Amino acid sequence: MNSTDTLPICIAGNWRQGQGDRYASLYPATGEAVAWLRAASLTDVEEAISGADHAFRTSGWAQRKPHERAAVLHRVAQLIREQAEYLAQRQRLDNGKPISETRALVASAAGTFQFFAAACETMEDTITPMRGDNLTMSVYEPMGVVAAITPWNSPIASEAQKMAPALAAGNAVVVKPAEVTPLMALELARICDEAGVPKGLISVLPGKGSVIGDAITLHPLVRRVSFTGGTATGKHIAHIAADKMMPVSLELGGKSPTMVFEDADLAHAVAGVLYGIFSSSGESCIAGSRLFVARGIYDVFIERLAAGAAALRVGDPADERTQLGPLITPRHRDSIESYVAMGVADGGRIRTGGSRPQGALYERGNYYSPTLIEGLSNRQRICQEEIFGPVLVAMPFDDEQDLIEQANDSVYALAAGIWTRDYKKAWRFGRAVQAGNVWINTYKQLSISTPFGGWRDSGLGREKGRLGILQYMEQKSMYWGLNEQPLPWAS
Ligand code: NDP
Repeated sequence: MNSTDTLPICIAGNWRQGQGDRYASLYPATGEAVAWLRAASLTDVEEAISGADHAFRTSGWAQRKPHERAAVLHRVAQLIREQAEYLAQRQRLDNGKPISETRALVASAAGTFQFFAAACETMEDTITPMRGDNLTMSVYEPMGVVAAITPWNSPIASEAQKMAPALAAGNAVVVKPAEVTPLMALELARICDEAGVPKGLISVLPGKGSVIGDAITLHPLVRRVSFTGGTATGKHIAHIAADKMMPVSLELGGKSPTMVFEDADLAHAVAGVLYGIFSSSGESCIAGSRLFVARGIYDVFIERLAAGAAALRVGDPADERTQLGPLITPRHRDSIESYVAMGVADGGRIRTGGSRPQGALYERGNYYSPTLIEGLSNRQRICQEEIFGPVLVAMPFDDEQDLIEQANDSVYALAAGIWTRDYKKAWRFGRAVQAGNVWINTYKQLSISTPFGGWRDSGLGREKGRLGILQYMEQKSMYWGLNEQPLPWAS
């Protein structure tokens, strides 16, 4: 297909053009159009949700035996693997991540479908201990139509993380990808079709959240929303969920602390801190964006860190050696630049970065150099607000009690990193730090088998893990009367 043709979108299994505005997905490295499409309109939203409800009630998907649904999801995983290079290149063009990262995201998406196929097939209802003349059970039912709303930073992985458990549980799924990165959700819907997911169970609604978001989340047939994105949008959806008494999971922002103690293995810690903040160009909810280093090693550590950051390869996402690609949009880079300017105005010193890289390669893309700032305190705005870019703020610490108070002094509580050789200290700080995910002597390692989520403004609920499938099901208790006599009260 020519890149000026208008891509079809998927409305309740029908591949046709949307009825909203025509727009292009742009390659952040050059600003060129990768694909054109028309956004979903409000009419499309209605058709997708009522079609999903119809498919949920009539396709027989929810009634299939778990191993039969699992077989289809295994085929989805297999097709993702067979098309991995195509998908990784497409994801690179859609959001500008380096190819090495998009390959890993595609592999993770395949692993997610495989994992939830297994979770579906092996999930058990329970017979609960009898306390009367009843056989008592706890069973789970699918919910119906589930909405999956995703951000632009890791599309195929976030979308798989919602679609796989929702389908495994027997539901229909309406996916709303970020406006700027619509392509991976469409590819996943195509692959699900190919794998044999019944027609109508999946819809993909590209477009602006401000135009179609409320129509999706407020819709009475949408029984659950799984959202990943910014905290402000998450809170808005939480209000809607409260009014509808609808379960919701919210994976939101972060401002995660990393703590480096004097006894840390410095080579490991430097590499871990660089990876924690600068991989994905810092466009990561779990980026380790606040760094606390023991004063005794502060100067040495920061020297090595600044040298490491300056040596990172920023460039063409198609180049296998590239470590940081461009940022998602020019507007997002502007926001990062204004945070750095604010940090400097507040008295921060830039140790490295703090500007756009120079050279012909960088002229058309939204590039920004890995940036390390020091001389600020944890209460300043640059240390409290999520920047979502390659900007690290470093601070020395003297006292362990003060350190934990500063680390926890944030509205966010998504992740934390601890670098020390002392396992007792790691245990102490690992338990004391308030965060949904804690890494000890490593950072930003994720596994589909381990639950993920945040506390406070970083979110509600958990995704992933074997029990992740239960987020997409309603629990039901059943009592089977075994008494040969009528209930005594009425007799
Ligand atoms: P947004 O909250 O702006 O967008 C996320 C998604 O929500 C997009 O699809 C967006 O649509 C949509 N949306 C916007 N308004 C509404 C609405 N009223 N109703 C329903 N949906 C709506 O976040 P960003 O795109 O800026 O993503 C970055 C944020 O995501 C960061 O804060 C980051 O921390 C967080 N994030 C959290 C992760 C986690 O797991 N905790 C993982 C990755 C990111 P559109 O943009 O198309 O208009």
